Amino acid sequence: MTKANPMADEMRRFVGTDEKNPFEAMSERFDKAAQILGLDPDLYAVMRVPSREIKVYIPVRMDSGHIQVFEGYRVQHNFARGPAKGGIRYAPDVSLDEVKALSAWMTWKCAVVNVPFGGAKGGIICDPNQMSLGELERLTRRYTSELMDFIGPERDVPAPDMNTNEQTMAWIMDTYSMHARHTVTGIVTGKPVPIGGSLGRREATGRGVLFCVNEAIKRFNLTPAETTVVVQGAGNVGGLGAQLMHEQGYKVIGISDVHGGLVNRDGLDIPKVLDYINENKSVEGYPGADFVTNEELLEVECDVLAPCATENQITSENSPRIKCKILAEGANGPTTPKADKILYENGVFVIPDILANAGGVTVSYFEWVQDRMGYFWREDVVNERLEEKMVASFNELCHFSEKHNVDTRTAAYMLAIDRVAYDTRMRGIYA
Ligand code: GLU
Repeated sequence: MTKANPMADEMRRFVGTDEKNPFEAMSERFDKAAQILGLDPDLYAVMRVPSREIKVYIPVRMDSGHIQVFEGYRVQHNFARGPAKGGIRYAPDVSLDEVKALSAWMTWKCAVVNVPFGGAKGGIICDPNQMSLGELERLTRRYTSELMDFIGPERDVPAPDMNTNEQTMAWIMDTYSMHARHTVTGIVTGKPVPIGGSLGRREATGRGVLFCVNEAIKRFNLTPAETTVVVQGAGNVGGLGAQLMHEQGYKVIGISDVHGGLVNRDGLDIPKVLDYINENKSVEGYPGADFVTNEELLEVECDVLAPCATENQITSENSPRIKCKILAEGANGPTTPKADKILYENGVFVIPDILANAGGVTVSYFEWVQDRMGYFWREDVVNERLEEKMVASFNELCHFSEKHNVDTRTAAYMLAIDRVAYDTRMRGIYA
């Protein structure tokens, strides 16, 4: 007997009820977009799941002399459009479901900005704040050597993510190169500039957020000087994003780190705030601003709210109290699907994460290209090409959303799924 709707059955099998499970959140959006697109059930079945999940146990000699074994993952979600691509995060609460979701988001993100990569993500369960530099180096090198057969410039290209940085990438590049017996700069992106990194990569995610916001405020007839901005997060994305917006004349009235947030309705001196955080390792005690909790910060009335920290910050619980016009998602997965509905009903214009934070992977793509050419671009060339990509993708997404009469999040997934589906269909499924 043939089934009336095989996709609906598949969907029931996958979608759970945990609002904060990132893989379920990703799947719910995927299903909705796939259904509106009328995605072929065979393509649906293939694209819905990762291509490969790798779990490694990483022995590390700690400074005490003893061995500690860490659990790590690399999930490669999709290769239809090119090598898999995505960062590696180090955190105590990393889980396989989180890494799976993040790997899928990389596939959709790369497709939204139309760079020739699939998606992947890695993670190691560890507390980098409790580890010495030597322990982190040994952890990184052993993790890399465990993944030797699965990563490579043509296979899967890691990058920084939460709690990893240029130094981490340099260790990965060196370890991979030692095994390969020659220097392979294209194995990772986000490297230090002198050893195959790209100018502008460090600021790229924040700059991408800025370019999206520049486009979005036009829809509200706002100029930067009239636009109030609240940024959650003061790291690579939030900190540099706030700094760039401040430089462009935006009025950044709120910013936070893990300890809490600062609010000053007259505008914060962002370079000063960032210097303060750098010195004191916390926003706490900064003079000339009100101190609020991270939850309170999200509810501050503003034109642009940019959650640039982590997942599940805007949920069914607090979304009715979010008072921004534009939500620019610098983090991956900051909003749950239940919150999506509430924000939509309240007329919030959402720049979805798979577009808003795609500046990082876009310049990663430029870095990979430069490594392969062995010819490095000027910073203004990198930034100009990034702007071109972000603006074009923003407009394509808005066009898609208007044409299909769907919210911008659904439009982003539809755009991405449509591209990956086309390429998968053209290549054919080797089944
Ligand atoms: N970790 C970043 C992200 O989530 C960058 C990934 C990359 O450059 O490959 O987009």
